[in-house]
Amino acid sequence: MQNLIIEARINEYAGREQNPHVPWSPQEIADTAAQCREAGASIVHFHARAGDGSPEHDIEVYADIIQRIKAQSDILIHPTLGAFANEGDANQRIEPILTLAKDPATRPHFAPLDMGTTNIDAYDSAAKTFRSTEAVYTNTTGTLQYFAQQLLGSPVRPYASLWNVGFTREFLAFIDMGLIAEPAYACLILTGDDLPAAHPGTEQGLAAHKMFIPEDRNIIWTAMNHGGDLMPLLPGVIKAGGHVSIGLGDWPYLELGSRGEPPTNAEVVAAVSDISRSDGREVATPSQAAQVLGVTI
Ligand code: ZN
Repeated sequence: MQNLIIEARINEYAGREQNPHVPWSPQEIADTAAQCREAGASIVHFHARAGDGSPEHDIEVYADIIQRIKAQSDILIHPTLGAFANEGDANQRIEPILTLAKDPATRPHFAPLDMGTTNIDAYDSAAKTFRSTEAVYTNTTGTLQYFAQQLLGSPVRPYASLWNVGFTREFLAFIDMGLIAEPAYACLILTGDDLPAAHPGTEQGLAAHKMFIPEDRNIIWTAMNHGGDLMPLLPGVIKAGGHVSIGLGDWPYLELGSRGEPPTNAEVVAAVSDISRSDGREVATPSQAAQVLGVTI
């Protein structure tokens, strides 16, 4: 079985109310990436954040963060595309990644392709109301084809984010068309109770995803749980040969802290590494992950 590829999902747009160790500044992100690498992560996924934690969309900040990460660590780099997703056409959304990729010093290794369009309104079950009602994450087939074509001509590998089985079917069509090359890297997205957009973060939610990943394709899958605890699913993922995407961006993981302190991202990664090793599965180094995923370092 492949060594376990741990992707550290270090910040997303998480606040610090529950866990103050969510990194925001470029140097905090780079330090966290290096610490996660030491703890067993081979990929870091991050969102640039402004000083007050709000989303940062400046490509220069992304360039700065990637340079800082590379100066401290050999961890593979997976920035969000979402920072550039709110406005503009397909070219405007992917162009920052392609620009970053031109210089080895700022080149990311992955760019996410969310393989469909979905409602992303959060649900407040206590109040029995949606917090918003018009939030749509739009990814048309034409836009995704354009992204995939652009990435095929670049050293950046696509990371297919699969929110549900419809996304998986579009992903498989792209592989069929040669728009996404194998080995293809796919994230099976699970979400907590406040975000009904994806499969629920349960054994059944994950099993329903996995059922539609064909075994005759070279697809490397990883599981994440945004807004929920992934740890209960970890033994099943490790046993099934999947990989793990986890971090404080998704869930505060307070139970993994020590001496009453909330854990750092690196402590969450270390907990995953310990469980995998005790189950007999070594964790992958960045170069091993790159080989499995067809990444050119
Ligand atoms: Zn993200």
